[in-house]
Amino acid sequence: MNEKTNKDLYYKKAAGLHRECFVCDTHWDLAPEIFLRRMAGEKNVLKNRYLDDLKKGGFSLVVSSIFARAEMIPEKGLYEALSQIASLADDVDSVSGEVILVKNAADLERVIRKEKIGVMLYMEGLDPLGNTKELLRAFYEAGVRGASLTWSRRNFFAEGCCRAHEYFDVKGGLSALGKETVPFMEKLGMFIDVSHLNDDGFAELCAIAEKPFIASHSCARSVHDNYRNLTDGQIRALAAKGGVIGVNGYSAIAGAGARDAARWAKLSEHIERIIGLSSYDHAGYGFDICTPYYEAETHTENTPSGDCVASHGDAIELTAELLRRGHEESNVKKIIGGNFAGYFRRMLRQRSDLYGSYTDRI
Ligand SMILES: [Zn+2]
Repeated sequence: MNEKTNKDLYYKKAAGLHRECFVCDTHWDLAPEIFLRRMAGEKNVLKNRYLDDLKKGGFSLVVSSIFARAEMIPEKGLYEALSQIASLADDVDSVSGEVILVKNAADLERVIRKEKIGVMLYMEGLDPLGNTKELLRAFYEAGVRGASLTWSRRNFFAEGCCRAHEYFDVKGGLSALGKETVPFMEKLGMFIDVSHLNDDGFAELCAIAEKPFIASHSCARSVHDNYRNLTDGQIRALAAKGGVIGVNGYSAIAGAGARDAARWAKLSEHIERIIGLSSYDHAGYGFDICTPYYEAETHTENTPSGDCVASHGDAIELTAELLRRGHEESNVKKIIGGNFAGYFRRMLRQRSDLYGSYTDRI
């Protein structure tokens, strides 16, 4: 059998897994992009730009960030965050036959059964809250199910880490407010994401957190030395708590050229490093497809992309590579979504709201 036939076989097998199993991407700047496109007069973003591709990739759940641009902080950060939630909700409404917002355990089961494609909201950085952690309750009621304390900049909650193309050993971890916010989020039922925390912040959060937390879009630093990636010790610590790591497909973070043939092997190496340090139960996909967001922000098209995974349909290539490298189908199912399905099953409540059921007063 020649190499090409083999490649096709693995691709076919991977496509079958994506069609039949729960497939999840834990980081996509979807709500920020939809907001910007709607501001520019565009409607039906999911339907016209993404639905076909999500179906091709067999995606069951995507976790969308809510992200405030630097120029909106502080005064308009809250406005921008709420506008992104409103824009996403409107856009999901326009494809309500096929897409739902995942807010509770029953919603998750629907997307696990592949009845619909799910979108779950989380905040990438708590900057829109200013210094008022109690606003998280309002975001919870609006459907937000998780957050990272920081993006790559300092805020009232913690020091950030540097951006993907930079490398600093950023000192300083969580503020007093940040340390109060970790148990507050756990009580609310929000998942915590450590992807943009610096090393000091990770250590402090790890010491405080009682529930498993995730890295929604990070790779292994020992495979590619970028400060946005997790050290071996951090990977072990996150796994010991029962968390999952969504491997990032952005070229500067993954350490692969966005169009290099070797990018699938490189992403697999990150996954294998995580598996080697823990087990098959802690690796997932968190591709960080961000060129479309950048284009929406800058009103450009066809810009050079840093996305190794250019689209959700493209994700099948990575799964095919994992199969080609000899990973058992049952383990590959965990990586493409099974691990995150288990994690979100543990995190999501039965009900979408907290009214009358949330007795732990602030
Ligand atoms: Zn990010």
